[in-house]
Amino acid sequence: MSNIVAIVGRPNVGKSTLYNRLTESRKAIVDDFSGVTRDRHYGHAEWVNRTFTVIDTGGYVANSEDVFEAAIREQVVIAIEEATVILFMVDVTTGITDLDDEIAALLRRSKKPVHVVVNKVDNTARYDETCIFYALGLGEIFPISSMTGSGTGELLDEVIKGFDDEEVEENGLPKFAIVGRPNVGKSSLINSLIGQDRNIVTPIAGTTRDSIHIHYNQFGHNFMLIDTAGLRKKTKVHENIEFYSVMRTIKALEEADVVLLMIDAVEGMESQDVNIFHLAEKNKKGIVILVNKWDLIEKNNKTTKVFEEQIKQKLAPFTDLPIIFTSVTEKQRIFKAIEAATKVYENRKKKIPTSKLNDVMLPLIESFPPPSLKGKFVKIKYVTQITGTAPMFAFFCNLPQYIKEPYKRFIENKLRENFDFEGVPVQIFFRQK
Ligand code: GDP
Ligand code: GDP
Repeated sequence: MSNIVAIVGRPNVGKSTLYNRLTESRKAIVDDFSGVTRDRHYGHAEWVNRTFTVIDTGGYVANSEDVFEAAIREQVVIAIEEATVILFMVDVTTGITDLDDEIAALLRRSKKPVHVVVNKVDNTARYDETCIFYALGLGEIFPISSMTGSGTGELLDEVIKGFDDEEVEENGLPKFAIVGRPNVGKSSLINSLIGQDRNIVTPIAGTTRDSIHIHYNQFGHNFMLIDTAGLRKKTKVHENIEFYSVMRTIKALEEADVVLLMIDAVEGMESQDVNIFHLAEKNKKGIVILVNKWDLIEKNNKTTKVFEEQIKQKLAPFTDLPIIFTSVTEKQRIFKAIEAATKVYENRKKKIPTSKLNDVMLPLIESFPPPSLKGKFVKIKYVTQITGTAPMFAFFCNLPQYIKEPYKRFIENKLRENFDFEGVPVQIFFRQK
């Protein structure tokens, strides 16, 4: 199940500082170079083997004074509906403000777990001032310092207790999620696949409050589509369309086997698109890129190649994935998109027999062994695929700690060259034998 932790609160209490700490996005140096971090308001986090998605609501608030309080209030309402756990952040140095009181009033009606996080508690003197926040009427408070990280462990221990462990009822069909920024053409694609007849929308038990599920069973294809576009008209404040769409996207993505990430050919791959891509990759989902509105692009014989290169540059190092150029309105390559998703789904389920894996990989390793380190030689003896939802490979060797990133990448490339894993993130481990 998808678990989303939303950090809400007024500006400057320290939401993005906590967000950065939880997702460790400061470590994403590569992303800093490509200018991605600026718009990064949601990401992947982990605590005692539980993974979840954190969303920093502050990133979606406009700066203009008149919309912003309304926008914050609406975000709280959306968070109550869509998130699994809500962190309400307040600031010990300012005490309770009017806006804090207003947010608390909304949150007191929530049936979802809400934790009051008192931030900027950097020292013991400030710790003594935290008890005033019990007046918010939301129960236990969690004093933390987002800056130093103190108190965050206790908070996360409590947060994961609120996670949803309920299993979605499985019908065994592949689940494809169509995701992308507003207006790229997601609804149009779904309409062209299923016709205007939305009556075939069949909610699966336990998921009705999540995204909409559509059973597609035509032309030899049988799968579930997860639609994120259908419900977006609910927001009143324009600024929150993006926020709402992100919440829906995260949920759909975590539920899906394969993500069809639709981008706008005219606008190209933007930072929000790259964020969604990384989230899908970190969740080990199959990925197909759809470059839609291809009819609006003036083309020559090099255009597709140039587009492909530009996209792959932004997605590197994971570039072994299908990129399909579609025009939903002109009905171009829609079926190809479905076929690509089906193939990626099969690739993700693929299990390579151990003997075949060793027959192919060991000679390659033999002729290009890991470089020696401090005079020591790494000997890889044996490889096997570990059973899991997505492909994982364990390479058994004498000195696993000596294997560095470039060699790991070499191994991954060889796996991809010899066994088709197009569209699928693979994990490679080196284990002591
Ligand atoms: P947001 O608007 O809620 O996202 O707040 P930010 O994360 O941007 O933080 C606002 C300011 O508070 C920044 O100057 C941070 O450096 C500062 N800040 C955040 N967390 C702490 C903390 O734990 N202690 C102190 N002293 N300052 C903090
Ligand atoms: P969504 O917000 O992602 O669900 O996007 P919609 O499906 O509502 O599409 C947004 C707009 O883009 C609509 O006006 C569509 O008619 C238009 N659109 C969708 N696909 C295409 C396409 O392939 N080419 C062109 N030119 N317009 C498209």
